[in-house]
Amino acid sequence: MVKTVLILGGGTGGVVAANVLRKTLAEKHRVVLVDRNEHHYFMASYPLVMVNLRRPEQVTRKLENLQQKGIQFVQTQVTGVKPRQRRVETGEGSLDYDYLVLALGAEHHPETVSGQLGEAYNPYNFTQISRLRQALSRFKRGKIVLFLSSVPYTGVIAPWEIIFLLDAYFRRRGLRHQVKLTLVTPEALPLPLAGPLVGVSLRRMMTERGIQLITQARILSLDPMQQCLLLDQGITVPGDLFIGIPSHWGPSVLFDSGLVVDGGWVEVDPHTLATRASRVYAVGDATAMRLPVSREWAPKAGFFAHYQAEVVARNIASRIAGKEPTFRYKGKAAGAVMFTDFGKGRLASVNCYAKPSPQVILLRPSKAAYWFKVGFEKYWLHRWF
Ligand SMILES: Cc1cc2nc3c(=O)[nH]c(=O)nc-3n(C[C@H](O)[C@H](O)[C@H](O)COP(=O)(O)OP(=O)(O)OC[C@H]3O[C@@H](n4cnc5c(N)ncnc54)[C@H](O)[C@@H]3O)c2cc1C
Repeated sequence: MVKTVLILGGGTGGVVAANVLRKTLAEKHRVVLVDRNEHHYFMASYPLVMVNLRRPEQVTRKLENLQQKGIQFVQTQVTGVKPRQRRVETGEGSLDYDYLVLALGAEHHPETVSGQLGEAYNPYNFTQISRLRQALSRFKRGKIVLFLSSVPYTGVIAPWEIIFLLDAYFRRRGLRHQVKLTLVTPEALPLPLAGPLVGVSLRRMMTERGIQLITQARILSLDPMQQCLLLDQGITVPGDLFIGIPSHWGPSVLFDSGLVVDGGWVEVDPHTLATRASRVYAVGDATAMRLPVSREWAPKAGFFAHYQAEVVARNIASRIAGKEPTFRYKGKAAGAVMFTDFGKGRLASVNCYAKPSPQVILLRPSKAAYWFKVGFEKYWLHRWF
């Protein structure tokens, strides 16, 4: 019998799942991918767009291209998921499935900090990153404040990349002495997941580059009249240009699906990514992944979405073929890179499921790491489309 695998979301997880399924499933079975956008956005390259090392159109691909591979693409808004009926509601009507993969990512909610919407650029949004790029090209003197509204957030290395690349960008333009850079985060130290040694080394890099770091901050509001960020305990951080990473929530369309826990994230088995509902899996940023011992949020990153999608796709293909699903997600990622300069980066490898605490290795900045990530970007945008 012909089976339909429906994938919601054409971001990192959805695109990998669709490709792997198409390769592993017999041709008669249907692979259908749904996204509200016409394009896939490669968000890991947004920091490069910001500092003018990429044009915005270089980091997108048309999802329609997947059709050449035998993946059906439906461009529409998902409006509801009904696991009991094995049905998804969309702007184009209902879609039935035999297996469902939820890859809807995280939602951004800048409105949760008063003043953030409209007063701060969201570097996680395609339109806004393009506007920020223009604003930065006009910026010659003053204070730039990058802030993180809350945890968890996606792309755990992205805020550090953004601030290091801003430093490099203004150095290159000979304006760095006129630009003050500040990073404000609710976290106790940079990349807390990686432990104190990595945190101290990143803190040192920031000090060496004259970047101010404010940790354990609870942001109350952004006051456009006073041009400052208000933190608790009466602390104010003045700025001329604000860049705000908004609060992240799980996809609101799943709130009534019976599959989510606090924050709207989808509860999954940490190794199979199976949800509470039969034949429904979730991958990537939308999942409620926690670390095994501390129960803190597991990092949300494209690398993890990618590996999770491979596991889910292969297990679904096995089940459809009548075989035992044997693939397991192990919480590991190797080869992630944090850009630290124009032409330099730090290579990371992560084991989230290590006990008693996650293992993170972050190598020293090198040219090789930078070019490795640039190579990966090219591979990604070519390989899957
Ligand atoms: C600036 C930035 C830099 C980053 N850098 C890195 C990095 O260097 N390395 C790394 O590993 N990760 C990085 N990340 C994180 C990485 O991009 C994400 O973890 C990854 O994209 C998550 O994949 P996903 O499939 O879960 O969700 P997404 O890629 O966010 O995809 C979700 C998709 O669902 C669609 N969608 C959502 N709701 C609906 C709906 N109701 N109806 C229809 N469609 C819907 C969206 O349009 C989107 O296409 C970065 C992220 C950002 C923002």
